[in-house]
Amino acid sequence: MKTDVLVIGAGAVGTAITRELSKYNLNVICVEKREDVGGDCSKSNSAIIHTGYDASPGSLESELVVSANPAYDQLCADLDIPFSRIGAILPAITDEQFAKLPEIKEKAMKNKVYDVEYLTREQLLQMEPELNKDVKGGLYIPRESIIDPFLFVVAMAENAVANGATFMLSTEVTGIKTENGKICGAETTAGYIEADYIINAAGLFCDDVAAMVGKNDYYVNPRKGQFYILDKNTSCKVNHIVLPIPTKLTKGKLMCPTIHGNMLVGPTAEDLTDKYDKSTTKEGLDSIREDVSKLIPNVRLGDTITQYSGLRANRNPEGLHIDTYEDLYGYVNLSGVRSTGLTNSISVGSYVAMLLKNMGLDMVWKENFISKRKGISRFHELSREEQDRLIKENPLYGNIVCRCETITEGEIVDAIHAPIPARSVDAIKRRLRAGMGRCQGGFCGPKVLEILARELNCETSDICKNNAKSYMICGKVK
Ligand SMILES: Cc1cc2nc3c(=O)[nH]c(=O)nc-3n(C[C@H](O)[C@H](O)[C@H](O)COP(=O)(O)OP(=O)(O)OC[C@H]3O[C@@H](n4cnc5c(N)ncnc54)[C@H](O)[C@@H]3O)c2cc1C
Repeated sequence: MKTDVLVIGAGAVGTAITRELSKYNLNVICVEKREDVGGDCSKSNSAIIHTGYDASPGSLESELVVSANPAYDQLCADLDIPFSRIGAILPAITDEQFAKLPEIKEKAMKNKVYDVEYLTREQLLQMEPELNKDVKGGLYIPRESIIDPFLFVVAMAENAVANGATFMLSTEVTGIKTENGKICGAETTAGYIEADYIINAAGLFCDDVAAMVGKNDYYVNPRKGQFYILDKNTSCKVNHIVLPIPTKLTKGKLMCPTIHGNMLVGPTAEDLTDKYDKSTTKEGLDSIREDVSKLIPNVRLGDTITQYSGLRANRNPEGLHIDTYEDLYGYVNLSGVRSTGLTNSISVGSYVAMLLKNMGLDMVWKENFISKRKGISRFHELSREEQDRLIKENPLYGNIVCRCETITEGEIVDAIHAPIPARSVDAIKRRLRAGMGRCQGGFCGPKVLEILARELNCETSDICKNNAKSYMICGKVK
């Protein structure tokens, strides 16, 4: 097999790079060791599209986040991705925090995020009635936004496929071949792929991939972030992203609505060594309760429907790097894509395309590039008339499988046969939210399993929850 460009990793970053490169007359393959697109970190974050107001001024991260934010309105409209500019507030509860506000605003100005504004105590309490009444004043960052992070990656991948790119899932890169200071190709679990250019977008494992070409002059440790997700009916809600005053280590623990109307509370920031430790812990969750209740005293963590954690790829030494090498033609190494990678993925895509062009790759823009993608109809968002019409066209839309989120059999079947097919119970969950509601799949889980087995023409015992061999059924009793 031969390709012009091989992208390693189908998280937000690798997928955004693949989509960007699919705008040009190139053969592009994105290889992903998991069974689905969506990455590791890209499916376990706060789902905020940042403005970059608090980035290090003058850094590459600042440049990429600040330039990415304004692009999301058009991108999400084009690719049918749920997105909302709800804005963030940064309330100061103590005198010490209040004294830090000018410094934060100045930093925002240095990052060219000029729309950050002061808010009075009264304005804040009007915007967020659940806020701690001791609030002294704060800042408003109007373009901080929320997105569906799962559909974001799926939509970009599907659009890249529509434009000729290939995703090879369940394909792990195990080695990279170079000759005379030049990239030749990659050894993978699906065979050797000859490639002129290789982009390392392997997230948490980018140091392992870098070691394959001797460019691991850094290492990555996971920085865990734990979260609570609250029921949509919780009585204490916020309307904006409510952020604490940041510290050096982290943006801090926040509370915000998700794009689908739940409340998200977290994350922690815990430095680890084990890249597979995605557990949630009592200590971590207790620390969220302690910190967030200082901002929102009535937060009802008893309304939790699930908890999860994600691992930020923390680079040592720190900082976002997108490196090319004079002694290794054709290789681009990404590292330190840490807390803002969901946001900056799309600018990283353009940046990498520019680097490849500078290296001499002949890139001719495709005039027939398809910029739009239509997702699966979201039945519960349609009017009664539209729902009736859809059911007449396809009666499977008349069968509600997930009661909590009102997801129909028609949507599930569409996801199974989509350009990037959903083949596990969690892949369905990430695309449609079946199983993400209050009962967490207790009711719809077995039905989704049966639909998957029927559509994929296999046994229910062949269907996995998420990753390879995560079977949910071990055999028939009767
Ligand atoms: C708690 C937390 C909160 C966050 N909040 C936000 C936020 O609100 N906004 C924001 O913008 N960012 C946020 N982030 C950061 C953001 O999620 C990440 O920066 C981003 O998702 C990184 O994407 P990625 O594609 O680099 O990595 P990943 O999503 O981890 O994808 C890398 C992929 O590479 C694959 N891979 C690895 N090695 C190989 C190999 N050898 N062969 C083939 N495939 C391989 C992996 O399987 C994986 O799928 C947060 C992160 C965390 C953990």
